[in-house]
Amino acid sequence: KKIIIAIDGHSSCGKSTMAKSLAKKLGYVYIDSGAMYRVVTLVALRKGWIVNKVPDTEKVIAGLSDIKITFKWDEELGKNTTFLNGENVEDEIRQLEVSENVSPISTIAEVRHEMVRQQRQNGKNKGIVMDGRDIGTVVFPDAELKIFMTASPEIRAQRRYLELTEKGDKVNFEEILANVEGRDKIDSNRAVSPLKKADDALILDNSNLNREQQLEWTINKVRE
Ligand code: C5P
Repeated sequence: KKIIIAIDGHSSCGKSTMAKSLAKKLGYVYIDSGAMYRVVTLVALRKGWIVNKVPDTEKVIAGLSDIKITFKWDEELGKNTTFLNGENVEDEIRQLEVSENVSPISTIAEVRHEMVRQQRQNGKNKGIVMDGRDIGTVVFPDAELKIFMTASPEIRAQRRYLELTEKGDKVNFEEILANVEGRDKIDSNRAVSPLKKADDALILDNSNLNREQQLEWTINKVRE
């Protein structure tokens, strides 16, 4: 029987890596909800709707209807590509500038409302793994399996640092650590659907686990 698997947790703790390999293993669809908030942020940055990390809420809300977000699974690369109105923005939405502006955008209630609506459409059919901050609490409160992932901020920043430098981005460790901690703070304290563990979610602290160990732990939970 196919189920819905919700994976939430702190920034950069490997949620998407785990969700992707889990979906692959189970033959499920993977949806990266954070990519959707990143796309809205990218549009806002391009249009000049964010000044000093403060978004012009009304402009962002008015612009939502012109944003069409789609994903395409690339079998060869084993990863999702994110499109904004048909344009491949996968690399751009991962850049630090987007990471530094996405949490303020994600506090806007109307933005969340629209993203949640689209996320639920994606989950109409079971057999889905979705990762984010509010998947187990808000998007799919009835998900059959909920996992809350976390790791120490330093470990998470180190992993993100390696990921970005491998892609050739010029980044600085301290900046990334500040971003990871800053996002957690905004995400956990916002008024609308703050980041928190669902009561029925299982905690996975992966500070000392490699990717294979995390996948194995999760697969066992799926089978239980
Ligand atoms: O998952 P990722 O780190 O790419 O998400 C980027 C940002 O999008 C998060 O820091 C958070 O502010 C926001 N987000 C959210 N709710 C989700 C997924 C992401 O608020 N379900």
